[in-house]
Amino acid sequence: MQKLGKNLGAYYGETIDIRAVLREIKIAAQTHQWESETIHNHGEFHWIALHRPARTQASLKRIHISAGTHGDEPAGPLAALKLLQENRWPDNVEVFLLPCLNPLGFTLNQRTNAEGIDVNRDYRDPKSAEARTHIAWLQRQPRFDLYLCLHEDWESNGFYLYETNPDARLSFAGEMINAVAPVCPIDWSENIEGRPAQGGIIRPNISPHERLDWPEALYHITHKSRQGYTLEAPSDFPLPARVNALVAAATVAVDCLAKTKT
Ligand SMILES: [Zn+2]
Repeated sequence: MQKLGKNLGAYYGETIDIRAVLREIKIAAQTHQWESETIHNHGEFHWIALHRPARTQASLKRIHISAGTHGDEPAGPLAALKLLQENRWPDNVEVFLLPCLNPLGFTLNQRTNAEGIDVNRDYRDPKSAEARTHIAWLQRQPRFDLYLCLHEDWESNGFYLYETNPDARLSFAGEMINAVAPVCPIDWSENIEGRPAQGGIIRPNISPHERLDWPEALYHITHKSRQGYTLEAPSDFPLPARVNALVAAATVAVDCLAKTKT
């Protein structure tokens, strides 16, 4: 699979009709009996938080999955839709899914929200309605065993992920990369985004208190979840491969979580 060569300085690939994708997400959630809560409204757009209760309380695990934080990364909401449609969730996993955190960004095909704020740098002292809404909702939820943030990178040469696992729990990163490799190229470089990487995995040294522009991941690590992954699909490749990459990584992460002993 070759790079398309479209992303000259920004994302110039396929765009999505976010209104249509959100309608399909709503239908898929209803079909599979998810609970849906509207957490914010702006014009025609309703921000929804979807919840799938576990089917058994034995060995219960909770996961938070978010997508659509950057409006020029269409694979995220499409992957959320596909995960809902495939409906392959282990019985002991309770799922909290935010399928699109920045719908207005998608109407503009831009990274930021409509006011030009990068929502994924706004989780410490939030100024955007998107991050404020998300945090207010998070504060009403239980802690999670795992978080996944679904993203794309317009510059990258393949799929990669960030692992945040400060307590050195059993890592799912290798299995996620193995699951993605058959459906999407992996970025095997030893340096990605200016950070050392190995096998498509970046394990950043995080010190949340030294950083002011928190991405969502730092909020989770500080307040909600001690293990998580930010998935980066390479957006200079065909859109279906990127969606499949995010779905494959998320599916295997959920399976690994379900089997983890507490
Ligand atoms: Zn992103």
